[in-house]
Amino acid sequence: MTEDSKAHFAFKPMIRGMVISESTELFPIGKVYCVGRNYADHAEEMGAKVDVDQPFFFSKPPQAVTQLNSIPFPTQTDNLHHEVELVVFLKSECSDISPSEASKHIFGYAVGVDLTKRDLQTAAKKSGKPWDLSKGFDNSAPISNIQKKGGFLLSEGNISLKVNGQKKQSSNLSNMVWKVDELISWLSKFITLKAGDVIFTGTPSGVGRLSLNDKIEAEIENISTLSFELIQ
Ligand code: MG
Repeated sequence: MTEDSKAHFAFKPMIRGMVISESTELFPIGKVYCVGRNYADHAEEMGAKVDVDQPFFFSKPPQAVTQLNSIPFPTQTDNLHHEVELVVFLKSECSDISPSEASKHIFGYAVGVDLTKRDLQTAAKKSGKPWDLSKGFDNSAPISNIQKKGGFLLSEGNISLKVNGQKKQSSNLSNMVWKVDELISWLSKFITLKAGDVIFTGTPSGVGRLSLNDKIEAEIENISTLSFELIQ
């Protein structure tokens, strides 16, 4: 399409804009990548091992990302799980970069929850089928306000999640097998990362089942807190 083209969109394109702390601007959500098995204790509780040779990724659609405080309980599952994760937001394009070049592309961070229909995921794993419907459903990626930390490489800090006031997950970002700069570098070798792209960086152990009306509180030290409720 040229600049002077009269063509226009058949309908308004949907862009997800997320709240940035202490800013009137919104962060436009692009592609959303999630890394699997990035904490040894979580890999173990899932009956798997950490992939020390290479990380593995799946993705969620941008529409999965939400900052709603009340999330309708997802349909088609009897075993919805919480996975608390550090979420990284990118501010510029990069392709085939080394870990040492990664931090300058970082816009900021949030705490997020990778909501997972574990029953669907387990069935997909067993039959060798994709995980998409177990991971990429509506509101499956709630996040806190985004903390602007341009160019800052975050490598430690407590990460935790409570359900109805009870602590379920607790670890430190220093336990991540693949660090933030390594994840950005790795992904950039396969895909051109762009401003707006998002990376969920994996969860520590303690994942578990959620029920209707549960109140979930997640926190990453010195970054942000997130709370939401699962409603009818
Ligand atoms: Mg996850």
